[in-house]
Amino acid sequence: ATVQSELISSIRSIPDYPKPGVMFRDITTLLGNPRAFRRAIDELVHPYAGTKIEKIAGIEARGFILGGAIAHQLSAGFVPIRKKGKLPHDTVRIAYSLEYGVDEMEMHRDAIQPGEKVILVDDLIATGGTAEGAVKLLQQMGADIVAACFIIDLPELGGRRKLEALGVNVRTLIE
Ligand code: IMP
Repeated sequence: ATVQSELISSIRSIPDYPKPGVMFRDITTLLGNPRAFRRAIDELVHPYAGTKIEKIAGIEARGFILGGAIAHQLSAGFVPIRKKGKLPHDTVRIAYSLEYGVDEMEMHRDAIQPGEKVILVDDLIATGGTAEGAVKLLQQMGADIVAACFIIDLPELGGRRKLEALGVNVRTLIE
């Protein structure tokens, strides 16, 4: 089986979650499958093996799981990007758009030094609103964003183009 078909078959789809009409792509089944989890991490990191990446920035909450594994593989540090009010020290905060309405996310102000090479990670990109907020926070801190990586792209929602318009290289494994 190809990596793509193995990853696709390890993801569970839940109709009408969290609300009617939405097909939720549930990666907990991928994470719980030892072979699929390893293959997803290996695929995400292989372009960067041997290159100098200082930090992996993961978006709460599933981006933390992937980001921790990726950071270990690349011998990089890990930086959490969290929903507002969860981080204890001085933060930088940004509003970002959700499907309905807005929310805010934040990162510790001292988490990234200007010029550091950073990879942004989340499980899935849909409209790109969440990742766009994270990219703007990282750019505000002077990060050199090497790539934004996701297991799943929902291409009809246009998230990839939104990040590319900010000059970010986007890497996804399956659609
Ligand atoms: P976006 O901001 O529209 O790109 O939505 C992406 C964010 O919502 C990410 O943090 C995802 O984890 C989450 N998300 C949206 N749809 C799904 C889904 O079907 N499965 C898992 N996460 C999702």
